[in-house]
Amino acid sequence: MKYFAILLLLTVSGLTQAQTTRKTENIFIITLDGFRWQELFSGADSALIQNKTYTHDSLEMRSLFWMDSPEERRKKLMPFFWKTLASEGQLYGNRNFNNNVNCSNTMWFSYPGYSEILCGFADDERISSNNKIDNPNITVLEFLNKNQRYKGKVAAFASWDVIPYVVNEKRSGVFVNGGYELATGKNLSEREIFLNELQPKIPGHWGSVRQDAFTHYYALEYLKKHQPKVMYISYGETDDFAHDGRYDQYLKSAYRTDQFIQELWQWAQSQPAYKNKTTFLITTDHGRGTVPIETWKNHGDEVPGADQIWFAVIGPDTPPLGEQKVAGQLYQNQVAKTAAAFLGVEYTNETKVGEAIGTASRVKLPVVK
Ligand SMILES: [Zn+2]
Repeated sequence: MKYFAILLLLTVSGLTQAQTTRKTENIFIITLDGFRWQELFSGADSALIQNKTYTHDSLEMRSLFWMDSPEERRKKLMPFFWKTLASEGQLYGNRNFNNNVNCSNTMWFSYPGYSEILCGFADDERISSNNKIDNPNITVLEFLNKNQRYKGKVAAFASWDVIPYVVNEKRSGVFVNGGYELATGKNLSEREIFLNELQPKIPGHWGSVRQDAFTHYYALEYLKKHQPKVMYISYGETDDFAHDGRYDQYLKSAYRTDQFIQELWQWAQSQPAYKNKTTFLITTDHGRGTVPIETWKNHGDEVPGADQIWFAVIGPDTPPLGEQKVAGQLYQNQVAKTAAAFLGVEYTNETKVGEAIGTASRVKLPVVK
């Protein structure tokens, strides 16, 4: 049946010669918790970087991240985004051009945001807290893990210890390492053994969120060993430093995460299993406030603007359109279907999911069920 379908597809594509073939075989979904579009598109905020309460050493922060123009500032803060992603990929959500990306859930905090990203729809009835409750909804990770092509090839690494519940690790069978979990399994690499020694000995900043460097390097080791085709990496520090009122640390964390994503990208481009066949989709679970000034620390439905997010994509099927400067509206619920579509899979769920972002791919996505 499958072969017949492929034959048919080949015949059809043979007839329509101009059709481009899809190159993506692997998908990485990457999130930075509560990282604002304001910093992504304009870099460090002049009011916050000079505020002694939020920025302990303004001189240091200015030397690291300040430039007069927003275009230069954002390059200092997120060099990989603004050198590589902006020239080879696409960035959505700069509201200065009325290019909007929003949550469709009305909660504007983490669990509802991650659930919307991964499931493709908001569920305000059932997903209304950050409690450790197994997600009653199926995520695109679970959906793909049921597909023979991807079974056992789906993994998630997260700094926040609630992500295993969002993914519903138990039911989904997706491999998840979240919070302060160590690397487990046979044949641990030397690096995993060292990370396992180090993680419990580093003073944890927060009870439920580990430092992103651990999440990142555990994920990288897993990639090397298991070569998953669908990888979700959830960085968490940006949100926690913001809640702590540490704008300086929030910026430094954003910079480090940019470097982590660059490392993942460069690593992928050095591996035969991933090179020129891997697409990265990068986004955030929610925004934060701007006015009055102290609302930058927070989010939730009482903070105006906390539903404003952004979305970025890079990969072999993505036209290099860079920063989107035309008016438009995307929603968080479109990420899941877009991710699956890059793999040629039509993602559906019991609830209607957001449409795939058509401009993200140059391929008229041939859907293989
Ligand atoms: Zn938060």
